[in-house]
Amino acid sequence: MKLTAVVPCYNEEAALHYFYQEMQKVMQDMQDIEFEILFINDGSKDKTLEVIRELAKQDEKVKYVSFSRNFGKEAAIYAGLQYSDGDLTAIMDADLQDPPSLLPQMYRAITEEGYDSVATRRVNRKGEPPIRSFFARNFYRLMNRISRTDIVDGARDYRLMNRAFVDALLEMGEYNRFSKGLFGWVGFETKWLEYENVERVAGETKWSFWKLFLYSIEGIVAFSTMPLSIAAFLGVLMCAAAAASIVFIIVRQLLYGGSAFGWPSLVCIVMFLGGIQLLCIGILGSYLAKTYLEVKKRPIYICKETNKTKMEKINETNH
Ligand code: UDP
Ligand code: MG
Repeated sequence: MKLTAVVPCYNEEAALHYFYQEMQKVMQDMQDIEFEILFINDGSKDKTLEVIRELAKQDEKVKYVSFSRNFGKEAAIYAGLQYSDGDLTAIMDADLQDPPSLLPQMYRAITEEGYDSVATRRVNRKGEPPIRSFFARNFYRLMNRISRTDIVDGARDYRLMNRAFVDALLEMGEYNRFSKGLFGWVGFETKWLEYENVERVAGETKWSFWKLFLYSIEGIVAFSTMPLSIAAFLGVLMCAAAAASIVFIIVRQLLYGGSAFGWPSLVCIVMFLGGIQLLCIGILGSYLAKTYLEVKKRPIYICKETNKTKMEKINETNH
């Protein structure tokens, strides 16, 4: 049985050695499995690629794919899945926030308990700025209300999956990738493991608040069309309000006469309606923009250097 651990790395030169050491411990515990560590260098600006090359020279279990620039973690995950050819594939961060020591337990859940994938979820957000936790929690609450896909609060991207699950994920070649949603969308039997949040071993987080905010919008647009319905609903509401106002004005005119006042209120109403129209155009626009990016069918990542053959390429040469 072969297990490929996909590790997206962006400026992780400080963490990689710790990660590799930790993985070696796990590999020693799981002797009966053929391991492969597949580092995806996501256009790092530091010495990450050099460190990976060095590891690959010492250990033939270490493979890597290096991008031509930074394409983001989602692209790195997709590349990892495309290049992994094992029976099982794990996705894990390089900073040891996804403890490799959970792998044996995850492995047993798939091979003995018959699950298709094992996902992890952190039960707390210890060591994280409170404001970030607040927004994260509310994002998940909102997401689950407006989308039919299950998205679990605190879910990490740390997962072990069997071949069928990986193939299903690869079927979804969309450009705007929101893995947390994709994992839920494909279905299958997933077991959830919980663990306490671990702080990163070295280096710094690559996610600023703003980056996370944009990512959450991406998630909403990718997995829900509710904002469009809200726009339509607002339109109906405004029409109803306008109709009621017209009736009110006519009745008042008939009963009391003389209605040449109300200039300030008119300005307020015009501004209010203008605002709502712009908001709705904005909502529409964000879906259109995603569609635009999607139809261009640009590659999700560009590989500049690798020491591994891609799955499809192997298949092509077989035919
Ligand atoms: N990462 C990546 N590309 C990016 C940003 C991050 O491949 O553009 C990797 C990063 O190297 C790490 C993982 O994604 O292995 C998670 O990133 P990080 O630890 O910074 O996120 P956090 O754990 O703080 O959410
Ligand atoms: Mg991290």
